[in-house]
Amino acid sequence: MLLEELRTDVMKYAQRMYEAGLTVGVSGNVSAIERATGHIAITPSGMDYADLTPADITVIDLQGQVVEGQRRPSSEKMLHVKIYQKRSDVNAVFHTHSTYATALAAMGEPIPVILAEVAAIAGGPIPVAPYARFGTEAFGDVAVAAMGTGPAALLQNHGVVCAGVDLQKAFLIAADTEESAKIYLLSLMAGKPAIRLDSAEIPILHEIYATRYGQNPLKE
Ligand SMILES: [Zn+2]
Repeated sequence: MLLEELRTDVMKYAQRMYEAGLTVGVSGNVSAIERATGHIAITPSGMDYADLTPADITVIDLQGQVVEGQRRPSSEKMLHVKIYQKRSDVNAVFHTHSTYATALAAMGEPIPVILAEVAAIAGGPIPVAPYARFGTEAFGDVAVAAMGTGPAALLQNHGVVCAGVDLQKAFLIAADTEESAKIYLLSLMAGKPAIRLDSAEIPILHEIYATRYGQNPLKE
């Protein structure tokens, strides 16, 4: 079986996404790419996360064609493919329908930088991509354009897309995007919009996270 290890990791992170409440039912999808071959391991369309095995993860190429697998790939595969085509720094993509971030997506509201964590991880606000029909190439194009060089975008009337250098990083971005959307909406509901971080502070936190946080390569 092609990409056995990567398929297993994609399966595990898809299940983590579901267990963390970042998506409900059979919505959402996860993928990771092997850059040397351009092969992408992606969750199947419409299957219960709890029932997944590595063999259910489909391998597609950078045009979205199935290379190996018995399952139909995610209907939102072109979202993943378009990101991998445009972003050589990205090796894993999560698409979630996490509740609070999706509420903001439905409102067409970006997530401002109100938490140090978001400044660190995203380096700026999380933008909203305009509406496009899911499953189409345009759905991927508007997401890629909105993301720019950033790690995430809200998808208007739909959900969230997050990208990272690996599955662990992309998963953390999905979790932090949801957390910041939650805090932002709670502050709006309490009638006192959260204080934005000072714009000079944001790149400093982003730099600290990129170079000196957690187990990233030590550059100190
Ligand atoms: Zn979706």
